[in-house]
Amino acid sequence: MSDCASCGAPSEARFCPTCAALPYADVIRSCCARATSTSPLDLAQEILAHPAFPVAGQAHHPLVAAVLVTAWRNATGAEAAGPLAAAIERGDSIPGGFCAGFGADAAAIACGIAVSAIRGNTVKAEHAPGRALAHALTGQAMLQIASGTGNRCCKRSVYGVLEVATAYFASALGVALAPASGRIECPFTERNKLCNREACRYYPAGGIPAAPRRRLAAVEEVA
Ligand SMILES: [Zn+2]
Repeated sequence: MSDCASCGAPSEARFCPTCAALPYADVIRSCCARATSTSPLDLAQEILAHPAFPVAGQAHHPLVAAVLVTAWRNATGAEAAGPLAAAIERGDSIPGGFCAGFGADAAAIACGIAVSAIRGNTVKAEHAPGRALAHALTGQAMLQIASGTGNRCCKRSVYGVLEVATAYFASALGVALAPASGRIECPFTERNKLCNREACRYYPAGGIPAAPRRRLAAVEEVA
């Protein structure tokens, strides 16, 4: 028995039966309100584990923006109710399919949304530095996604841009967000019919980080 990640009630599962039935925007909102982690990747993994969170689509856009604002809030102690609500609303306003049809991946845009919400950016002249900070992160995250090959994958995009954003928050904003608490391993490969499997660095049993393990096995066979 532990606490439900969404409402905090004692629960056998990670989400209590009531919260397991919530729509994704409510799950993101409640998990982020309660969270104390400074790792956007750990926060994302927790929310992605919600039983009704879809394999792909629009839900991933507010997720990225929200976990970044939440991790920043937890790392700085800042009041962030307003930025968090704005991040979720703006992220969720980017429709599913946008990434394919508009030439810009919404997971990357969601990183810029997080910085825009944190900085309170507007179109006014005094917010030019804040806009540049947001746009630079969006650009870096966009290039990270563009470097991916094979099928599109919302999980891979989320993990990738959050790694980029974690480094960016330290270097550009001076805020140290925690990395993932372990190797990022995607638990959705079996549910995702378009999974890139061994070609993805987040595939549990393959990819670049697992190469030393394969070499070790080969050594053991020889021995
Ligand atoms: Zn609950």
